[in-house]
Amino acid sequence: MKLTDLSALETREKFLSGDIDCVELVQAYLENIKKEDDEINAFITVMEDSALEKARELDERRDRGESLGKMAGIVVSIKDNIAVKGVKMTCASKMLADFVAPYDAVVVDKLKKEDAILIGKVNLDEFAMGSSTETSYFGVTRNPVDRSRVSGGSSGGSAASVAAGFCSVSLGTDTGGSVRQPAAFCGLVGMKPSHGSISRYGVSAMANTFDQVGVLAKTVDDTAYVLDILEGFDARDATCIGNAALGLDAMKDAVPLKDLRVGIPEIFKTFDVQDEVREGFARTVEYMREQGAVVEYVPIESLALAISIYHILVNGEIAPNMSRFDGIRYGYRAEEYDSLEELYIKTRSEGFGEEVKRRIMIGSYIMSMDHSKEYFDKSLEMRHCMIVEFEEVFKDHDIILCPTSPTVAVPVDKELSPVEIYMLDLFTVPVNLIGTAGISVPVHRENGLPFGVQIIPRKGEDHQALATAKELEGNI
Ligand code: GLN
Repeated sequence: MKLTDLSALETREKFLSGDIDCVELVQAYLENIKKEDDEINAFITVMEDSALEKARELDERRDRGESLGKMAGIVVSIKDNIAVKGVKMTCASKMLADFVAPYDAVVVDKLKKEDAILIGKVNLDEFAMGSSTETSYFGVTRNPVDRSRVSGGSSGGSAASVAAGFCSVSLGTDTGGSVRQPAAFCGLVGMKPSHGSISRYGVSAMANTFDQVGVLAKTVDDTAYVLDILEGFDARDATCIGNAALGLDAMKDAVPLKDLRVGIPEIFKTFDVQDEVREGFARTVEYMREQGAVVEYVPIESLALAISIYHILVNGEIAPNMSRFDGIRYGYRAEEYDSLEELYIKTRSEGFGEEVKRRIMIGSYIMSMDHSKEYFDKSLEMRHCMIVEFEEVFKDHDIILCPTSPTVAVPVDKELSPVEIYMLDLFTVPVNLIGTAGISVPVHRENGLPFGVQIIPRKGEDHQALATAKELEGNI
């Protein structure tokens, strides 16, 4: 096996035992990046010098027998809406194309303290709005499994960087599926933990009641291991309480597959799902039953409205979040203007792409006086109904199961309407609406494209999602 195909825990093991050096490892990844990334376009910024410097430091410290952090020997890429001090943080937007982050996000600080090697900042849909990384100002990221296809989104660069052998783990963000769906498209594990598990301080806000940092990796163990390092209470993110259910140890307390009670929302039968995903999902259910799990259909009627509720609420939160990009404080500023108003208008017209503008317009409309009751408040009520419906099902089911995405990765040049693209998030947005966790486990097929099966546990029982994922990994 090539060095760059190893999992994060494997490279760490080999580094600690002296089988490999970090410099050798980083150079192997950099070589892949140089060879392949012109076409794949996963990176916005490659942190070659600082990665090699950190690698040298780690090699020396290991050789001197000094103590090393939990991430020593693991090379990570970071989605470019997460701040790394002194490095560009573009959010894949013209608006921030030259913006350099003045401090580290809490998640980055945690990785650095544990001796992770950061190899670069990776591509995304502009400000994380999208499902294919096609709305990036820096161009689409291609899927390493089939380069004629998208890598998914919005954490498409994260997924592609791991799948292409440019690093072994990536941090992404997930507002409506942006960690899980690209992981599924690229054949990886991707997990969004329960809302409030991980601090978002230093992460560009899209929709605050939905956003959560997540991890994309090659294995469930890698995912659990890194999430354990990232989680924890943080006073700078008022919603962040931490989550003791993340990590390798916590998985031991989960219900095993043989005793598992699984619910599949009945309404998903009526959704438009590609044949290969439908078949793969059916095989997964069959496997779970063979192992002793009880799998049955459950009613969650509000799911029929999930995409509508999601877009009303998310856009309502996006519009005010985007108002900070005004050409005054930071980022892009239009060159010619005659008044303050014109400065705002030109800056925002020139600095934002189509999709971001669409969401600001819809969000502003929804939040305006006359409409907020009709749309926003009603959607909040529906969100609550959905939470109640899920809670009901969770009374006698340990997890809910569904595909991660209704399709495999779509071709890059396939022209989809915005609504068709939104429908790709059919199975992922409910998880963010109810605030629980979701993990996508890859289903690999010979001669076929990978896709994912999603496991949804009760809120805060993230260890259950990880443990079931681990039992399915490699078997479905
Ligand atoms: N695809 C979804 C959207 O466009 C989710 C994005 C995300 O999770 N960041 O809103």
